[in-house]
Amino acid sequence: MNQLRRVTWSKACTIVPTYECFNRCSYCNFRRDYPSGWISLSETERVSRKHRDAGAIEALIMSGEVHPSSSRRVKWLGHIAEVCKVALHNGLLPHINVGPLTTDELEVLSQVSVSMGLMLEQASPKLVKTVHRRAPSKSPSIRLQHLRAAGRLKIPFTTGILLGIGEDEQDREESLRCIADVQQEFGNIQECIIQPFCPGERGYVAGYSSTPFNIDELPSVVATARAILPREIALQVPPNLVFAGKEPRDGFALLLRCIEAGATDLGGISPIDEVNPSYSFPNMSWLEDELLARGYQLLPRLPVYERFIPWLKRDKKREYMFEVIASHMQELREKPFTKRVSGIL
Ligand code: SF4
Repeated sequence: MNQLRRVTWSKACTIVPTYECFNRCSYCNFRRDYPSGWISLSETERVSRKHRDAGAIEALIMSGEVHPSSSRRVKWLGHIAEVCKVALHNGLLPHINVGPLTTDELEVLSQVSVSMGLMLEQASPKLVKTVHRRAPSKSPSIRLQHLRAAGRLKIPFTTGILLGIGEDEQDREESLRCIADVQQEFGNIQECIIQPFCPGERGYVAGYSSTPFNIDELPSVVATARAILPREIALQVPPNLVFAGKEPRDGFALLLRCIEAGATDLGGISPIDEVNPSYSFPNMSWLEDELLARGYQLLPRLPVYERFIPWLKRDKKREYMFEVIASHMQELREKPFTKRVSGIL
């Protein structure tokens, strides 16, 4: 009998410390105008409990950014750390993605999370004149600096490329080569997201991009990524964007082609994709059945890949984090099925 091949995903809830952001990426569907407020710790606790009770494992902490030289920066960072602690103490494992950070800031947040992430998006400097004209954080050199600093600190890391923001094929390959270089030097990249840009209600990228990404080309970009990136990096495709605007049967066929081209992970699945709120996720129990019929086992995972758990610093203050990791691992070992955790999805 043929062995089933694995496709993984993480049941997540997204907690947003703030939707405020000093950048103005032209395609953004996330940021709201200042002052949109910061989430309270009591609300964080309510959300964490609700999702933990529904089977979530990961708290995806995703925030808009405060300018690096703003007097509010220290408070912002401290608030994110507190939000992570609340999520953790309610049984969720924080994965943090809050924009470029200094080495000191990375160190602070690595104490309260199991992994972190930052999309490279594209390494081409030409985009700073177009979609990133008013987004200083999207400078490729700043983002690569962040990736390398996370590598030096041995932080289990997720990065990725964004497709359809004005880049060409060569730019994509160059961006993937930059990620491969970081991995070769530091070895801390657990996954690379291959993310198609899908227009939402608020972004106005069409004004800049003359070559919108053709979603049917996604499997070929996945294959390119598989050829360029070291094998140990999992390739992730967001299923809600693969299914965007398609009939479920056609969306599934495209997802299958991505998987056959090398994608092995579907990322954090939460009730709402905060970056792409117009696109809902497919039902994971249904997806499990469809994939099983084609020889793939859809398995939930932790937001830190198992081989990186020994990288996490272990001390008295963080003992609780290891207890939460151990309890989730135990649950997944006992019942490693998507249906067990698919709950409210
Ligand atoms: S895409 Fe991210 S960095 Fe850009 S404006 Fe939106 S929240 Fe800010």
